[in-house]
Amino acid sequence: MYRSHTCGDLRASHIDSEVVLSGWVHKVRDKGFVVWIDLRDRYGVTQLVFDEERTSKKLLEKARTLGRETVIKASGKVIERASKNPNLPTGEIELLVTGLEVLNESILPPFTIEDDTDGGEDIRMKYRYLDIRRNPVKNNLIFRHQVTMEVRKYLSGQGFIEVETPYLIKSTPEGARDFVVPSRMNEGQFYALPQSPQTFKQLLMVGGMDKYFQIVKCFRDEDLRADRQPEFTQIDCEMAFVEQEDVLNAFEGLTKHLLKEIKGVAVEDFPRMTYDEVMRRFGNDKPDIRFGMEFGELNEVAQHKDFNVFNSAELVVGIAVPGAASYTRKEIDTLVDWVKRPQIGAKGMVYMKCNEDGTYKSSVDKFYNQEDFANWAKATGAKTGDLILVLSGKTNETRSQLSALRMEMAERLGLRKADEFAPLWVVDFPLLELDEETGHYHAMHHPFTSPKPGQLELLDTDPSAVRANAYDLVLNGNEIGGGSIRIHDKETQAIMFKHLGFSPEEAKAQFGFLMDAFQYGAPPHGGIAFGLDRLVAILGGQETIRDFIAFPKNNSGRDVMIDAPAPIDKEQLEELHLKLDL
Ligand code: ASP
Repeated sequence: MYRSHTCGDLRASHIDSEVVLSGWVHKVRDKGFVVWIDLRDRYGVTQLVFDEERTSKKLLEKARTLGRETVIKASGKVIERASKNPNLPTGEIELLVTGLEVLNESILPPFTIEDDTDGGEDIRMKYRYLDIRRNPVKNNLIFRHQVTMEVRKYLSGQGFIEVETPYLIKSTPEGARDFVVPSRMNEGQFYALPQSPQTFKQLLMVGGMDKYFQIVKCFRDEDLRADRQPEFTQIDCEMAFVEQEDVLNAFEGLTKHLLKEIKGVAVEDFPRMTYDEVMRRFGNDKPDIRFGMEFGELNEVAQHKDFNVFNSAELVVGIAVPGAASYTRKEIDTLVDWVKRPQIGAKGMVYMKCNEDGTYKSSVDKFYNQEDFANWAKATGAKTGDLILVLSGKTNETRSQLSALRMEMAERLGLRKADEFAPLWVVDFPLLELDEETGHYHAMHHPFTSPKPGQLELLDTDPSAVRANAYDLVLNGNEIGGGSIRIHDKETQAIMFKHLGFSPEEAKAQFGFLMDAFQYGAPPHGGIAFGLDRLVAILGGQETIRDFIAFPKNNSGRDVMIDAPAPIDKEQLEELHLKLDL
């Protein structure tokens, strides 16, 4: 027997019982006549004691020699600790060891297995199995398990069936590049790894499954932006005979359930805002609404004076930063530098202070009077003591710059509180997006998303005006889910493909299976997918998804532990009918 209890089990009520524990040597403290060992496993830490009086000399000697991370089995009697540790669940007792067996030695680990380790990110990733022994990582994985269990419990309770879909498939466009897998049995042909199970879940609806979900790996070969993983996990869902409202309600239910069960937080019904509205109010399609600082458009009150920068701008827009009128010139200058960084790209920034004495002070005092500034304050909702920051230029650019500034100010002011949750639905996304470089339209969500009723004709005349039956769930400034009501008839799908630049032949070759299926009584359907990694990170109150993935890849898409990707040998290449010309 390796153990009668875990290292987290023993309490005062166990005093005098004989027990067996197994685990890792966390720490050895040698006081000469007495040796203590902290023994650790997933469940906790228990103190072992060896001393001259009560244990044999031989045992004491052996205990002394144990290196960190050695795996041992210890048996003995539970005794009351002389000095108790109230911070440890097992802190009232210790194990007086009478039997000790080394199960496996450990060489010296490259970093300490402590909550605050001395190991940097790279070394921890290389030895991720040691990193996982540390509480913060271990607890994140346990937390992720709890979230996925709640998801399964809830969706299953709502009648959703988990169905697995294949990983070796044909391209499913979600806007990224495919990872491809060469086929040995079919020379010159390739599978694609799914960017999502999109087409399969739609086919499950044609198959009459009615309510499907899957916690599923998806693969997207993108240049890795910060905190993206080439393989990631989605909670993927689809429902038949539903309208947008049904999907939103079902997944608002799931989100509320998770917030309640996992965080103990009850949230009100989620606000719903259209894409146009969030762009206007927050300059961003995934706004963080835990705090205000909403955009105030100033074109009307700031143009047609003598300030040419504003006069020539498509949009003049500001935010009122609460309580920041006291910022010094120097502090404001650092903000100007911040917005001028290439990542943000603003050309400049105008400020206006709402002083405590009711006067206004601005960097453009020359061009405006106090009455003008009062209008600025009104438009941005500024109060006495606030600082208005104004950007101007082309509408889209300016909005995204001011949105970045809004988030930065919220960060600096401590308004992005990890224990506060402010979800919202963003609805009525544009159906198509113009690729500035190629001049082509592509689907903003994906090509299977249906346009709003009655808007199909608009595709010919004003494609960018067409709105989609598409929606995102946004939580604390992160898009945690997105979905749509789908096209479910062959003709409409064909029209969509045409507008996305597919010839009928191309559409048939790539998506013929789906269009064919639509001819056999496809029910109206729609769905959504949540990004599980991000959702777990947000619920866990942290920003990086990597901390919640057991074996993540680094920023170059590498697994530094197993050293992948890696070359394959010549024979394998030949078998796959691949020739490398490097
Ligand atoms: N397949 C979509 C995605 O991965 C989600 C959906 O439309 O249900 O974003």
